[in-house]
Amino acid sequence: MKKKVLITGGAGFLGSHLCDRFLAEGYHVIAMDNLLTGDISNIEHLMGNKDFEFHHHDVSKYVHVAGDLEYVLHFASPASPIDYLKMPIQTMKVGSLGTHNCLGLAKDKGARMLIASTSEVYGDPLVHPQKEDYWGNVNPVGPRGVYDEAKRFQEALTMAYHTYHGLETRIVRIFNTFGPRMRLDDGRVLPAFISQALRGEDLTAFGDGSQTRSFTYVDDLVEGIYRLLKSDYAGPVNIGNPDEITIKEFGEEIIKLTGSKSKIIYKDLPKDDPKQRKPDISLAKEVLDWEPKYTRGEGLKPTLEYFKEKVLK
Ligand code: NAD
Ligand code: UDP
Repeated sequence: MKKKVLITGGAGFLGSHLCDRFLAEGYHVIAMDNLLTGDISNIEHLMGNKDFEFHHHDVSKYVHVAGDLEYVLHFASPASPIDYLKMPIQTMKVGSLGTHNCLGLAKDKGARMLIASTSEVYGDPLVHPQKEDYWGNVNPVGPRGVYDEAKRFQEALTMAYHTYHGLETRIVRIFNTFGPRMRLDDGRVLPAFISQALRGEDLTAFGDGSQTRSFTYVDDLVEGIYRLLKSDYAGPVNIGNPDEITIKEFGEEIIKLTGSKSKIIYKDLPKDDPKQRKPDISLAKEVLDWEPKYTRGEGLKPTLEYFKEKVLK
């Protein structure tokens, strides 16, 4: 009998890559998703695999799975700013009630639980680069608060289950990740810039484009998550590529890569948009022996191929 893994948000960008990885590692995978922001096409290639099950379910409602479970990975949540701004209540519910349901299930099954936290717990950070012991600078009642505070609550609740119930828990703080299966219209900067460049439209940089991000290729992230899950480290761990770039430079890079004639134009900066973001990954190096293997340029190649098919078909 293969060991079973439950992956919530399994039809999403990251969740679907995790399904692939756990199947390749010899697990039986249950992907649970209500398709709020995900797409069944991300897991279509897995349908028919006897070691894969898809459960169409809202994890903010009571979660049940028959039989034993080895691991629960809670990845369900709207994740891009335009998604969570459109669905503030669902975002807060899946981060709070959804997490509570998954923790209860993990406790019942004696499973180890890993939650997808985020660099957004640092808010608009006043410390740079961000280390796990930085408590962050979040506006709880600002527009991004619905996501940031849901994730902060999710971390706190997960820690409480760990300390109070002795549940085996893991917390990954994910920094901006990219790769095939990102949604073209999710409003994040990478799909926005690539699709604009491929269509010959101007690239919309928000503000003056001087804000920074650090982009991680999805295969590196999945490897970091896999190692964290197997490790014995229960505190939060940053997983991200520390190669930082301004949004303006990133736009120029995309224009060059696509050979597009597009220009960069500037639009209003969204409220509370973090000015800088770069992970300190010394903890991941120390406890997981993990660091990214792909440069941004290497990761952009398969990502561009994926988007070309979507945009130009
Ligand atoms: P995504 O939108 O592609 O995937 C999220 C999935 O969760 C979708 O398939 C969606 O349908 C599903 N979902 C949402 N609410 C649900 C609910 N109530 N019940 C069941 N399913 C539900 O986003 P993603 O980029 O793959 O993000 C996955 C997780 O990783 C999220 O928790 C996100 O906060 C976290 N994260 C992602 C990034 C990133 O750069 N992609 C960075 C930090 C954290
Ligand atoms: N951004 C931009 N143009 C876009 C979309 C986003 O300049 O069309 C900026 C956004 O303001 C932010 C950065 O790019 O400063 C990253 O945005 P994204 O939504 O990808 O992720 P997050 O803000 O959550 O890091």
